[in-house]
Amino acid sequence: MSAGRDAARTLLVALGGNALVRKGQTGTIAEQFENLRLPLSQVARLSRDWRIILTHGNGPQVGELLLRQECCPHSVRLPLEILVAQTQGQIGYMMESTLDAELMQLEAGGQKPLVSLISYVVVDADDPAFAAPTKPIGPVLSEEQAASAGYPVRRTAKGLRRVVASPRPLTIVEKREIATLVADGFIVICCGGGGIPVVREGRRFCGVDAVIDKDLASARLAQEVGVDVFVIVTDVAGAYLDYGTPAERLVERLRIDEAMEHLRGGQFPPGSMGPKIEACAEFLRGGGSRAVICGMDAIEDAVAGRGGTEIVR
Ligand code: ADP
Ligand code: MG
Repeated sequence: MSAGRDAARTLLVALGGNALVRKGQTGTIAEQFENLRLPLSQVARLSRDWRIILTHGNGPQVGELLLRQECCPHSVRLPLEILVAQTQGQIGYMMESTLDAELMQLEAGGQKPLVSLISYVVVDADDPAFAAPTKPIGPVLSEEQAASAGYPVRRTAKGLRRVVASPRPLTIVEKREIATLVADGFIVICCGGGGIPVVREGRRFCGVDAVIDKDLASARLAQEVGVDVFVIVTDVAGAYLDYGTPAERLVERLRIDEAMEHLRGGQFPPGSMGPKIEACAEFLRGGGSRAVICGMDAIEDAVAGRGGTEIVR
């Protein structure tokens, strides 16, 4: 690959929540900084040949903020739009400073301008998701807390939890700013936690109590900015068939039509692998050239066409 040619190509890397907090960890800030080094050292090396956009999840961080809110009932209750904004600031800072340090480690100093953006994502006020909230967030609640919660609660595998709407992302408000920054050579961190959900009210945007799936928001952004390669990074090596059974096997390549059939057949559940598959399919249908789902240690391999699950037309 010649650096000259690839310098014009854009890569979007969507990091799952486990880039910050691995399964089984407490999630201390020291752990989160340490965890970021594995994916971001790869992104630093990739930035020599690619223009880069980074997006990220925020499940554990929003969960922590909601837990504090439950523990402190006399504090001012912050709506989700504010909590998502807070996590974009917190995680944006952590990613930016870690990536900056990783760039400095590169031979000949790989210094690049970096920026993390507070990002809004527009959703439809009439999205059917608002009528039937399904996305569990925050801590497990006691029966008593649930009864007086004042928001929808559902019994999940973990216990009683708050559920919120997860509407489809329509457009990223800052898409032009992001495209301009990327074209100017900035590495841009944006759309954290799927973006701050907003609806249009006349000429203004209004925050709503919802969370947007970060994989679907990343796919939307990838299309709106005209990204070439879209990589979704998670805590498994890619998409498996019969996941979690003795017959599970990693799929290396999956055509969109096969993927959709497996999605309908329940192989890729909503809220975890399902949206990753849908996001890759939407990106490719929108004209993107490559979409891959891979593990945290395999970002460079996935970009090089090795490892992970590539969704193809
Ligand atoms: P992220 O934070 O990266 O978005 P998710 O938890 O949303 O992570 O999605 C990744 C999880 O999806 C994996 O940890 C795995 O437990 C689950 N999963 C469900 N079905 C599958 C499947 N068919 N193949 C791979 N992983 C799957
Ligand atoms: Mg997820």
